[in-house]
Amino acid sequence: ETGRELLSDSDVGRTIARMAHQIIEKTALDSGDPQVARVVLIGIPTRGTTLAHRLAGRIEEFSGVRPAIGSLDITLYRDDLRSKPHRPLERTSVPEGGVEDALVVLVDDVLFSGRTVRSALDGLRDLGRPRAVQLAVLIDRGHRELPIRADYVGKNVPTARTEDISVLLREHDGRDGVYLRQE
Ligand code: 5GP
Ligand code: MG
Repeated sequence: ETGRELLSDSDVGRTIARMAHQIIEKTALDSGDPQVARVVLIGIPTRGTTLAHRLAGRIEEFSGVRPAIGSLDITLYRDDLRSKPHRPLERTSVPEGGVEDALVVLVDDVLFSGRTVRSALDGLRDLGRPRAVQLAVLIDRGHRELPIRADYVGKNVPTARTEDISVLLREHDGRDGVYLRQE
């Protein structure tokens, strides 16, 4: 039903912890240096936002610094939607302190064509001007259609276009896990 297991429940926890360490190291958010940009995690709903909260919790645990968290609903910015969605931007929440001059880390569950991230960059522009933007994804399944890459990758998974990654997270699904499903 769920397909071939790529990450077990405990693998997901370990992967998120590793990504948190990498974010701390690459952003130097715990350096205490006032020149270092404030780090803000912005999740792409639904599971990207959940992952952003998980990452923020681990980052705080490991570094003592809790990054601000926001979420960005990119539905209205997609360039490949034929009809306008009826849903408003209800799932967008601007992080405390905004994004101006911050180091924004966009967070999503799966990176595929790159179009969602491109849309998120458009959406971000309406919130302010970050100093820099990075990207964290739990799974990179390939098949990019735009020149976009992730700075932090939980797991690279070569996929066929016909396959589908199933990402289970405790908050939504009662347990963690990542599966490869054949359509
Ligand atoms: P992209 O815009 O890069 O083509 O696709 C990325 C977005 O679509 C992400 O927000 C992700 O949640 C969703 N997505 C794309 N492919 C998959 C997949 O195989 N599994 C899951 N769970 N989500 C996917
Ligand atoms: Mg998504």
